[in-house]
Amino acid sequence: MDFQNLSPEKPDTSGASPETVLRQVFGYDAFRPLQGEVIHEIVAGRNALVLMPTGGGKSLCYQVPALVRAGTGVVISPLIALMQDQVAALQQLGVRAAFLNSTMDFQQARDTENALLTGELDLLYCAPERLLQPRTLGLLHEASISLFAIDEAHCVSQWGHDFRSDYLGLDILARDFAAIPRVALTATADERTRAEIAQRLSLVDARHFVSGFDRPNIQYRIAPKTNANKQLVDFIKAEHHGDAGIVYCLSRNKVEATAKLLDSKGYTALPYHAGLPSEQRARNQERFLREEGVIIVATIAFGMGIDKPDVRFVAHLDLPKSLEAYYQETGRAGRDSHPSTAWMVYGLQDVIKLRQMLESSTGNDHFKRLERTKLDAMLGLCEITTCRRQALLRYFGDLLENPCGNCDTCITPPQTWDGTVAVQKALSCVFRTGQRFGVTYLIDVLRGSENERIRQSGHQAVSTFGIGADLSATEWKSVFRQLVANGYLRADPDGYGALQLTETCRPLLKGEETVHLRRDPAEKKATGRSNVREQVTDPVGWEALRACRKSLADEQGVPPYVIFHDTTLFEILASRPRTLAELAQINGVGKAKLERYGEAFLITLAELDPATT
Ligand code: ADP
Ligand code: ZN
Repeated sequence: MDFQNLSPEKPDTSGASPETVLRQVFGYDAFRPLQGEVIHEIVAGRNALVLMPTGGGKSLCYQVPALVRAGTGVVISPLIALMQDQVAALQQLGVRAAFLNSTMDFQQARDTENALLTGELDLLYCAPERLLQPRTLGLLHEASISLFAIDEAHCVSQWGHDFRSDYLGLDILARDFAAIPRVALTATADERTRAEIAQRLSLVDARHFVSGFDRPNIQYRIAPKTNANKQLVDFIKAEHHGDAGIVYCLSRNKVEATAKLLDSKGYTALPYHAGLPSEQRARNQERFLREEGVIIVATIAFGMGIDKPDVRFVAHLDLPKSLEAYYQETGRAGRDSHPSTAWMVYGLQDVIKLRQMLESSTGNDHFKRLERTKLDAMLGLCEITTCRRQALLRYFGDLLENPCGNCDTCITPPQTWDGTVAVQKALSCVFRTGQRFGVTYLIDVLRGSENERIRQSGHQAVSTFGIGADLSATEWKSVFRQLVANGYLRADPDGYGALQLTETCRPLLKGEETVHLRRDPAEKKATGRSNVREQVTDPVGWEALRACRKSLADEQGVPPYVIFHDTTLFEILASRPRTLAELAQINGVGKAKLERYGEAFLITLAELDPATT
């Protein structure tokens, strides 16, 4: 880190109003919901617990107070690999930021420590294990500290999947630095985790700021799986050609195969999973962040703390295990609040596989019950025929009054049909053939296929043979999928997907209940609303601005979005500023960036339009 670089540009913000800092340093016009309130609370010296969805704007909640209050703001963040980019982004804004972690050598660490002690830092990022070292704690006692921000605070929860034992030690801040305000931030929604954070970090009497969990710019779409690879390629080609995105798969093999597939179609697609050497993982993540239009194909191991704002789509080729996981993974799209897509395909085999995995897992009964409830909720979202966003938000305790208009079920409401008779036929076919067969065989029997296997087992003689010739094999698959998803049938956990009846199907078999099934929509092209590029009316200008941004980014060794977000670039293109003063009006153009990059962008614009110069 080069501190000589930092101080001269530093706008003096200490004691300024939060609004002034927002405008001058960050170049934004207004706070997002709750940001203003949280900042006010911290500036006044009080503690806070902040829950905001991914992309809600948590960072400003501590960055602005750190600039307004005297002293250095200390940010505790779990991911060393990402600190560097966060700090680089702040330095671009003229903020004096640095980090302390195990990647730096002795001298670098000393320089940073000295800068802290002499009051030359606005923000210091630090991993929890580093913070808890006696040496660091000693330093903090000597330095002037404006606040402590505990990012990804759900890491303190032992129930969550991101638990880090070092986070448990952070309650020392409450005891040893009682006079300094602390703010804990997370995107994890559920009530229990929130209570646990408050308790473990001694924030019980802190005010809780909970913002709505809706991500209105994300379009949710879930389609039945027909040919997953083709569906994925078609989707990207039609709607997100050239965009950055994440594709999630369950297994490493599938990650590798999918990355190869996309690569063969001309996309830059990089694999990311726990089986790769760590250097390669780091390199692929780095390319995803720095280059434009890179697709990461990953297992769930990828994503936490990735704050790349311009991820335009998240695609799932396999079903996540819970709505929590689905929401967290899809939430990585569109942090810059531009239209983005959460796209998923799923089919009968996914349902069977997940149910089998769950039943054959070694967990105790209580654990299995919990997991089963979670999987049911996930499957429920897939099969729902009303607004997906309303259902998602309801699950997280948020109420969305009206259907959203920006999910597939709102855009093309699915038809339902009275499946009572079909369901009776399907269930009784399972029963008559001895609950020993998988879905392909059952469909053959229902449709009266004359094949060798059926002849050998003598199933031409059962009463359900050929009674389902009125539906196609695809339609029957959809019936079976819905029966398994809704728990009327289960897959034999030890066998090869043999379907068995459960208790709940008794009234159906007896014809005491009518059933409405979802009619799977025919494959069709989606709305295209989520494609940002379609909003660009001047592609030449857009590419020129992007090229300008990319060359500035490469010069500095930072990702392009650290120079300007797409959002800012759009505004520049639309309003065509001619002077620095006009450019300064644009959202996302703060003082430091105006001075550094203003000229370059004005020149690019002038070259686009030679007549006016
Ligand atoms: P989170 O940490 O909650 O996921 P971030 O702090 O990374 O979200 O913010 C998401 C994006 O929104 C960032 O790129 C940030 O620059 C932008 N942003 C945050 N607050 C504002 C604001 N008040 N006006 C405009 N953009 C904002
Ligand atoms: Zn909807």
